[in-house]
Amino acid sequence: MKTSVPVQKNDKLEVIFEDLTHDGAGVAKINGFPIFVPRALPGEESTIKITKVKKNYAFGRLIETTKESEHRVEPPCPIFKECGGCQLQHLSYDGQLKHKQKHVMDVLSRIGGMNDVHVHPTLGMEEPWRYRNKAQVPFGEEEGGLVAGFYAERSHKIIDMDRCMIQQEENDEVVMLVKDIAKKYGVRGYDEEKHKGTLRHVVTRYGKNTGELMVVLVTKGKELPNKKNIVQDIRDSLPKVKSIVQNINPKRTNVIFGDKTEVLWGEEVIYDTIGDIKFAISARSFYQVNPTQTEVLYNKTLEFAGLSGNETVIDAYCGIGTISLFLAQRAKHVYGVEIVPEAISDAKKNAQLNGIENVDFAVGEAEKVMPWWYAQGIRADVIVVDPPRKGCDEELLETIVKMKPARVVYVSCNPATLARDLKYLEGRGYKTKEVQPVDMFPHTMHVETVTVIYREG
Ligand code: SAH
Repeated sequence: MKTSVPVQKNDKLEVIFEDLTHDGAGVAKINGFPIFVPRALPGEESTIKITKVKKNYAFGRLIETTKESEHRVEPPCPIFKECGGCQLQHLSYDGQLKHKQKHVMDVLSRIGGMNDVHVHPTLGMEEPWRYRNKAQVPFGEEEGGLVAGFYAERSHKIIDMDRCMIQQEENDEVVMLVKDIAKKYGVRGYDEEKHKGTLRHVVTRYGKNTGELMVVLVTKGKELPNKKNIVQDIRDSLPKVKSIVQNINPKRTNVIFGDKTEVLWGEEVIYDTIGDIKFAISARSFYQVNPTQTEVLYNKTLEFAGLSGNETVIDAYCGIGTISLFLAQRAKHVYGVEIVPEAISDAKKNAQLNGIENVDFAVGEAEKVMPWWYAQGIRADVIVVDPPRKGCDEELLETIVKMKPARVVYVSCNPATLARDLKYLEGRGYKTKEVQPVDMFPHTMHVETVTVIYREG
């Protein structure tokens, strides 16, 4: 059905906001035609001015709000508007958790056609600030000299910044320190336009439960002037630093890491623990960024897996084996599969580190390795999947259906692909039992869920 466009640029309208977009703008509808307005909240009534009109939607800005949401709060971060890293600081934390639950319900209904699934209230944090264990901060040059911070909205201009309210303080300290040291030795920040300069990014990782820090200096070339002094200065100022590495990224790209990583000092990895298990984490491997909530997420995964000790489990998209090792303590055997070879080598080391022997890890695409395992006669009682945003490949879902596990536990960072994949399984002998949203990324729009699906009959 085609509707005509009901608004024009510069129109002034009174609207009621119903929802939020994925980047946190309020959504109001005029005869079903959506208008997106930054920083408006569901339930609010406002006068807006239309700023841009497209075929199927329009943008507006707030003129006056006549009815404010009971959940509206003053954003505590002074650069909330400019930065864009958080989208929801103007919504109370309780309001954020409720929004995330509702969003999951809406998407399951709209995309998955599932209207009767039990979606629990979102499990949130007691203290939802300073939770991130990893920072990736761009370095550059502006008129005043070296800067490090964040990209201004829709641009490549770097705005200098020292403190981020969702970052663990240790990470902020590293970035401030490296900025000072780079200035001291005249290390140039990278100029994206001219493809010149030295320091592109500083990535820091912090093992919250061990207190160990890693510093990654991403440089354009192999050369880093005063390398030895830089390393010594970092060590002198921050004894928590256990690993300093240089990653070389010579390409014209906005991908942060290049292919080459060299240890400048200390170990190649830092360690962290989740529950009773210790993990080695290297510069580039995937590790959940909110350690407090990771434990909540994995405990839910374990609970949903319902293990008694006799089960064979597959952990697809296993990363460095975090979920696999968490489950192996309660299972007969766990098979993990992951596409990044370094992650699998970390996973194997992590198994050894913890003396866990009932696990096997394979490198490859989960959608190729699973059918191969099936052909080898491997069957799983429980299959855990934790795919990236694009969700599971259909070949993988097909293999799940063939393997007939009693339960599938689906950890998802994207409700839309979760809904699509659940719909596939629902049509083929499986029933979605419970969905538990876990807030891994407070103040942002990201929604993480863990879902348990049972085989019927
Ligand atoms: N379960 C892990 C990792 C989840 S992130 C944890 O909780 O830490 C998703 C992982 O899937 C990443 O490590 C990514 O490298 C991997 N991946 C992406 N596409 C894949 C594919 N087609 N097959 C296997 N692994 C894949």
